[in-house]
Amino acid sequence: MGEVNKQAVEQYLENNPQFAKEYFDKKLKPETIGALFNDRKVEVKDGASFKDLCKLEESDIVFEMMVEMQDTNDIDKQMHKVVQRIVTLVNADRGSMFIMRSRNGIPELATRLFDVTRNSELQANLVAPESEIVFPYDIGLVGWTAHTRKVQNIADVKKDSHFSDFVDKQTAYTTSNILAAPILLGKEVLAVFMLVNKIDEPHFSKLDQEVFAKYLNFASLGLKYSHLNYLYNVESRRTQVLLWSANKVFEELTDIERQFHKALYTVRIYLNVERYSVALLDMTKQKEFFDEWPILMGEAEPYKGPKTPDGREIIFYKIIDYLLVGKEEIKVIPSPPADHWSLVSGLPTYVAENGFKGPVDETGWVIKNVLSLPIVNKKEEIVGIATFYNRKDGKPFDEHDEQIIEGLTQFLGWSVLNTDAYDKMNKLENRRDIAAEMLMYHSKCSNKELQTILKTKEKINKEIEDCEQNEMIKILKEELPDPKVVDLYEFHFSDIPVSEFDLIKCGIKCFFEINAVQKFKVPPEVLTRWMYTIRKGYRDITYHNWRHGFNVGQTMFTLLMTGKIKKYYTDLEAFAMVAAAFCHDIDHRGTNNLYQMKSAAPLAKLHGSSIMERHHLEYSKTLLQDESINIFQNLNKRQFETVMHLMEVAIIATDLALYFKKRTMFKKIVDHIEQTQNEEEAIKYISCDPTKKEIVMAMMMTGCDLSAITKPWEVQSKVALMVANEFWEQGDLERTVLEQQPIPMMDRNKAAELPKLQCGFIDFVCTFVYKEFSRFHKEITPMLDGLLNNRVHWKSLADEYEEKMKAIEEKKKQEEEAATKGNGDEGGKSKTCAIV
Ligand SMILES: [Zn+2]
Repeated sequence: MGEVNKQAVEQYLENNPQFAKEYFDKKLKPETIGALFNDRKVEVKDGASFKDLCKLEESDIVFEMMVEMQDTNDIDKQMHKVVQRIVTLVNADRGSMFIMRSRNGIPELATRLFDVTRNSELQANLVAPESEIVFPYDIGLVGWTAHTRKVQNIADVKKDSHFSDFVDKQTAYTTSNILAAPILLGKEVLAVFMLVNKIDEPHFSKLDQEVFAKYLNFASLGLKYSHLNYLYNVESRRTQVLLWSANKVFEELTDIERQFHKALYTVRIYLNVERYSVALLDMTKQKEFFDEWPILMGEAEPYKGPKTPDGREIIFYKIIDYLLVGKEEIKVIPSPPADHWSLVSGLPTYVAENGFKGPVDETGWVIKNVLSLPIVNKKEEIVGIATFYNRKDGKPFDEHDEQIIEGLTQFLGWSVLNTDAYDKMNKLENRRDIAAEMLMYHSKCSNKELQTILKTKEKINKEIEDCEQNEMIKILKEELPDPKVVDLYEFHFSDIPVSEFDLIKCGIKCFFEINAVQKFKVPPEVLTRWMYTIRKGYRDITYHNWRHGFNVGQTMFTLLMTGKIKKYYTDLEAFAMVAAAFCHDIDHRGTNNLYQMKSAAPLAKLHGSSIMERHHLEYSKTLLQDESINIFQNLNKRQFETVMHLMEVAIIATDLALYFKKRTMFKKIVDHIEQTQNEEEAIKYISCDPTKKEIVMAMMMTGCDLSAITKPWEVQSKVALMVANEFWEQGDLERTVLEQQPIPMMDRNKAAELPKLQCGFIDFVCTFVYKEFSRFHKEITPMLDGLLNNRVHWKSLADEYEEKMKAIEEKKKQEEEAATKGNGDEGGKSKTCAIV
C-alpha cells in the first residue's frame, strides 16, 4: 500500500466524514471505553462478528459502570479514569475537571482533578479542599465554558479575551491551547472538563473535539448520578432534621437550652461537620440594678459594643460545644470568656449583630470553613448563633448545607417561642406551687394573736374595728419595750435574752422610733399584724429563722440611728430600709442558692439568679397585697413605688454573690466622704445621687446580714455554731438527697475546722465591710471592734486546734520513726553478725 503520511490520512478523513464517523464509532466503543472502567484487556474471541462483539462490550461496560456508580464515593476515581483516557486519546498534555457549586448564591468552579496526564496517579491529581483553585463564574475560560454551556476549542489562548493566566502564574506552566466542555444536567452546569496543550500539534482538532464530546457523555452519566445522589442525600437529611425536631418539640417540652441541646445533639449525624457550637444570647433588655451601678457611678463605660437588631447588648451567656471528630464530646460553657474558641473569630457576634449568614473561610488553626447562622424566633429576635465548623469531607459548605442548617436554626427559633410559652406556663405553675407552699406554711397573724400585743379587748374591752387610731396607738405603745432596757439602739444588741414573741414588739418599736408610724399613717393594728406575720413567715430552722430576721432589722435601725446614716435618707427611705431588713430572709429553708439549683427546686426554675433572695422579696411583696397587713397602705402611688424599688434593691443585695460587685464602688464613696470638709457637703454628695444612696444601702444590708460576726464573743460563739449547724444540715442533705460530697464548710466531719473557716470568713469578707463603715462613720466603729475581738478568739481557737493536730502528727511521726529505727538497729546487728 506504500507510505501513508499522516497528512494524507487526515485529508481523507476530513473529506469523508461518514466513513470517519463509522470507523471511530466502531473503534472507540469496545476498545477504549472498555478500558475506561476496568483495566482488563478486551479479548476478541474467534467466530464472533464485530457487531456482536460491540454489543457485548457495550452492555458489559454499562453494567460495570452501573456497579461502580452504586458507590458514589468513587466518583472521583471514575472521573479520573475518564479524563486520563481522553487525555490519551486526543493526545493532550494534561486535563482537569472543575466542579460547579454555589455559595451564598454565587456560582463558582473549583478544581477537583488537576493536571491529569496519561499516567498520573489519582492521588496526585485529586485536589484537597484546602488547596483547590476556585474560579468565579465569570473569569477565565473555565468560567466562560460554564457560562456559555458550550464546547470551547481555543487554538491560541493569547488571542482569547476570556483566558486568564492566573493558574499558569501559580503553577509555572504555559497554556497555549485549550479544549473545554461543560457537563450539563438540564440547564444546570455540573462540571467543566478541560484539556490543555495538544502534544506535537499547534492545537486541538475538530476531531479531537468530537472524541472529547463523546467521552464526556459517559462522564456526565456518572456525574449526574453522583449529583442526584448527593441531592437526594441532602433532601433526606433535611427531612430527617425537621421530622426529628418536630417530634421532639411536641413530645417533650423543656427549657430552651435543653431544647437546643436535644435537637442539636440528635441531628449531629446529619450535619456532617467536625464540630459545632451554639452560643445563646442573653435576652434581657433591661440590666439588673447592680449592673447599672458601675455605669451610673462612672466606674464603667456604658456599653458601646455591637447590639442585636432589637437593641440588646450582645452577651453570650452560654455555649454548647459539640465535638464530633474523634471522641464525641459535648461541653456546656456558662458565661463563656470572650476568648473562647468559638467566639474568638468574632463571627457569632457579627452574626448576632447583622443576622449575616454564610460560610466564611477562616485562616485560623483548625477552622477550615465555617457556616454560621442566627437562630431567630418568631418575634424576629436573634436568640442564639449556631456555628458549624469544617465539613467532614473537607469540602466547603455549600448552598445545600446552608439550606439544611437554615431549616434547623429556623426550627430552633420557632421552638424557642414554644418554650417561651411553656416557660411562662411553667413559671405560673411553679408560682402556684410556691404560693400554695407559702399559704400552707405561713398563716397570717390571727385576731387572737393580734390581741396578745394590741390588747384592746383586755384594756378597753373593744374590738379592733371599734377602736380609734389614737386609742390603739396608746395601747400598743404601752406594750412596747423601753429601747434602753433591750439595747435597741446598740450595735452589741443581743436577741438571746429576748423571747421570739418579744422580738415582735421590739420590731414594732423600731418603726415608732424612726417616726414612720406617725408620718406615714401606718394603722397600729396593721403594723402589729404585719410584724407578727413576718415573724410567722420565718421558718423554725437552725439559723435563718426569725431571730436572724429580727437582728438584721435591728442592725439596720441602729446603723441609721446610732450610726447616723439616716441623714442621707428621707424618712420614707428609712422606713423602706428597716422594713426590707426585717423581711430579707423570710421563708428561708436553711439551704443556699446552690442547693436550690442542684436539687432543681421549683424556686430555682422560677428565678435564674439570687434564687432565695428573689423569693424573700416575692414573699414580702405578696404579703403587702393583703391590705390588712399592708403597712404602706397610706402612701401615694409614687411613694409606694419608691418603697417597692428600695425593698427590691435591699433584699436582692443580701445575696453575697453580689457583695463583691459593690465593694469598690462603696469604697470610692467612703474615700470621697473622708475628704469632705463638712457634714453638709457629705450629705449633699450622697443624698443627691440615687445611685450612691442605693450602693450605701446595699452595703448596709450586707453589714446587717453579717452583723453576728461583730457581736460580743459570748453571742458570736453561739451564733457561729448555729450558722455552722445549718450548713452541716445542708451538707447532710447533699450527701443523702443529692449523693454529693459537701464542701468542707458544710461537712460536719470537718467541724473542728470551724475556727479556721471563721478566720477566713472574717479576713476575706467581713473585715472590709466594717472597716469601711468605721471609716465612713466613726459611730459605727463598735462593729469593727467587735469583729476584731472575735477574730482574736477564733484565731486562738484555730491555733489551738492546729497545735493539737501538730502534736498528734508529731507523735505519729515519732512512733513511726521509732518503729523503723528499731528495725534498722536489729538489721544492723544481724548484718554485723553475718559479716563476722
Ligand atoms: Zn440573712
